[in-house]
Amino acid sequence: MSDAESMMHGGFVSALDLPDVPSSKLPHHLDLRRTRVLCNSVAPDNTDTVQYSGAYASMGVDNSLRLDDFRNNFKVNVNRLTADEMEFDMVGVDPSLANAFRRILLAELPTMAIEKVFIANNTSVIQDEVLAHRLGLVPIIVDPRHFDYLSENDRPNEKNTIVFKLHVRCKKGDPRGTVKSDELRWLPKGSEFLKESGASASNTKAETYTSFNFSQDSMPEFSDNPIGVSPGIIVAKLAPGQEIELEAHAVKGIGKTHAKWSPVATCWYRMLPEVVLNEDIKGDMAEELVKKCPASVFDIEELANGKKRATVARPRACTLCRECVRDDEWERRISLCRVKDHFIFTIESVGALPPEVLFTEAVKILEDKCERVISDLS
Ligand code: SF4
Repeated sequence: MSDAESMMHGGFVSALDLPDVPSSKLPHHLDLRRTRVLCNSVAPDNTDTVQYSGAYASMGVDNSLRLDDFRNNFKVNVNRLTADEMEFDMVGVDPSLANAFRRILLAELPTMAIEKVFIANNTSVIQDEVLAHRLGLVPIIVDPRHFDYLSENDRPNEKNTIVFKLHVRCKKGDPRGTVKSDELRWLPKGSEFLKESGASASNTKAETYTSFNFSQDSMPEFSDNPIGVSPGIIVAKLAPGQEIELEAHAVKGIGKTHAKWSPVATCWYRMLPEVVLNEDIKGDMAEELVKKCPASVFDIEELANGKKRATVARPRACTLCRECVRDDEWERRISLCRVKDHFIFTIESVGALPPEVLFTEAVKILEDKCERVISDLS
């Protein structure tokens, strides 16, 4: 049995069967348990990671975390990058670190989202609070780094608030209409609604719901790049004679407070799958194996003697459904593993920031947290 084969047999290999190994390395069966999740027909096994630095001290192997090792082993390879989506391989990190990035991306990176809705008129069938909730979930396409958080004591101004107006009407005699997010118009000068108590005869200027010192479209960031929302999202339906008039105020926040501030539609990772055939699978059995796999992981190759043999053509596509190892015979022929420190990470942005920028911002947040812990401890 080759080294690789004995590794993939994992839990089934006896220490007595192991070939001689260099003294500085772990025996194969332990190395396999340290680095792989083993996937048998019932459930994944060996899912934990060994953190204790002295775990293998009796075998002369140092299991401590070392910065130099991390530097040498850590890799990021981008596989796919579009305006909204990125898939990359992150190699050489502990699952806890990969999960920290995922959670920061979901819940701690700020965006702008509609928080207050001032409704002047709503004769549609959708209730005010449901309408406000729907508007809150419409992604605002703007870089949140240009804005400050609005605290309780702050007045809404050009640095902490974005105002949109929505005024739609379905005239009598017209067919039923659909109100989409495209109808939200940015008001760079701030609110146009007058506060009832603010407009008195003695006031030189009537008070609105914001106090902008200057128009946002005069800011260099937005002069050529007007603030907008994600288009095409249905907000409400209007029957003939119905009307909606409102102002929506967006502020900065994070997904931990409410999912509407999450910058990602979703963000997930999976460990790199490893699929190994422990023996040659030929002829009808090869055909059967190809049919078993819903993810098309296996292919068939023609041998020189005209026979057919199964090959593992697309191991990354394996979803770990375990259809190929459902019975004992097949479980013996195929080994399924996941590499514990190799993550296939996917980020789907809602559009405020490109996915690669979201990831670098997540790294900065984790860095800040680490610095805070270090300064608290020192
Ligand atoms: S576990 Fe499922 S997806 Fe993976 S190789 Fe087997 S059948 Fe295909």
